[in-house]
Amino acid sequence: MIEPSEIERFRADTRQWLEANCPLSMREPLKPEDMYWSGSKARFASEDQRVWFERMRDRGWFAPGWPREYGGGGLSPEQLGVVEQEMARLKCRQPQFNLGVWMLGPVLLELGTEPQKREHLFPMMRGQWFWCQGFSEPNAGSDLASLKTSARLEGDEFVVNGSKIWTSDGDQADWMYALVRTDTTVKKQQGISFLLIDMHAPGVTVKPIELISGKSHFCEVFFDNVRVPARQLVGPLNGGWTVAKKLLQHEREAMSKFSEGGAPSPDALALGRAYLFDEQGALREPVWRDRLAGLLMDSHAFALTVQRVKEEALAGQDVSGPASIMKLVQTEQEVAKGELLTQLMGHRGMSWEGDEFSRDEHDATRFWLRSKTYTIAGGSSEIQLNVIAKRVLGLPG
Ligand SMILES: Cc1cc2nc3c(=O)[nH]c(=O)nc-3n(C[C@H](O)[C@H](O)[C@H](O)COP(=O)(O)OP(=O)(O)OC[C@H]3O[C@@H](n4cnc5c(N)ncnc54)[C@H](O)[C@@H]3O)c2cc1C
Repeated sequence: MIEPSEIERFRADTRQWLEANCPLSMREPLKPEDMYWSGSKARFASEDQRVWFERMRDRGWFAPGWPREYGGGGLSPEQLGVVEQEMARLKCRQPQFNLGVWMLGPVLLELGTEPQKREHLFPMMRGQWFWCQGFSEPNAGSDLASLKTSARLEGDEFVVNGSKIWTSDGDQADWMYALVRTDTTVKKQQGISFLLIDMHAPGVTVKPIELISGKSHFCEVFFDNVRVPARQLVGPLNGGWTVAKKLLQHEREAMSKFSEGGAPSPDALALGRAYLFDEQGALREPVWRDRLAGLLMDSHAFALTVQRVKEEALAGQDVSGPASIMKLVQTEQEVAKGELLTQLMGHRGMSWEGDEFSRDEHDATRFWLRSKTYTIAGGSSEIQLNVIAKRVLGLPG
């Protein structure tokens, strides 16, 4: 436990460092195109973005709470909380968005072998490799354990065959963490293993999926006799389901923090002001007033709950149960926000491109559509409700 005076000193130093090192343009509200995803194919959108990325990387603050020996910042949970609070206060953007850091890294720290930690955590902490997630298959989404992509052990290599679908940014990825079937003779959850696959290996083919909008970040990934060294198996052979559950918990936690400097999200009050307030700054319509106030109160209550869960985690309590609740509430609130904003914008809520509508209006419309995807990715809302019923409330299956 660190002395309160020491924490306050750390807070002052952190604030000073962030003020001196976070470029002003990196404190502006985030738009999807401003998100820097790292990896060998990533390009910086601006010089400020590069500077901010490099300064945070060199300080070990891509993952401030990870041990220094693996490239993290080595901060205590209390100090980590201070960095998060000070970044939020100054509205600093995340310097990189990286599935590896959010999801795989914590799993490797807990379950990886020493050579796996050394091989993968350092490049992750340098932003060198972009990781994608290879879980879903054409007939294995919510029912993930039905996956069929196979991995056959031959000597000291696995030979992987099959395909994955809905792989976000698979065409940008250097590595994939994947679930594969290593035993077909047992109950489906018991025959799954967790493998790290080099996306540049011979036999890996990535095919982008085009959506109705003409673009998409989704890909299909095909494996044709892809040889993966056995040292890339995380956890025991056929023990991948337990590893996957841990990873999904980290994914849900990360998604529940989207609004805290994570994913772009329009400012409801600012947009509401443009449509709902009169010249005196009063909210005109009682019905809209009620809905906007309700939204703001819900989001404030959620932020307080997130804070409470963080404090509980700091106090050493088990907070694995709330991850699904937080993911569910956060993503459903984002949908409610998108719907309210597009409704109050009237016909302007259908704005997509062109000069007739403002940039904020385009962003709000896109946000509304995107918000619906958050309730599917990482396990749909219905699946979260099932998990909460079973694991948190202890109800029968
Ligand atoms: C933006 C986005 C990014 C994604 N990125 C990735 C990625 O990088 N890697 C990856 O592997 N996958 C990714 N996915 C896929 C995602 O994990 C799946 O879409 C999700 O798990 C749902 O599976 P499905 O699409 O097959 O739908 P289905 O499982 O077919 O579900 C269809 C509907 O039935 C409901 N349903 C299904 N089973 C039950 C049940 N038991 N009880 C109640 N309702 C049920 C679901 O809630 C849903 O509404 C992504 C998805 C999205 C939207």
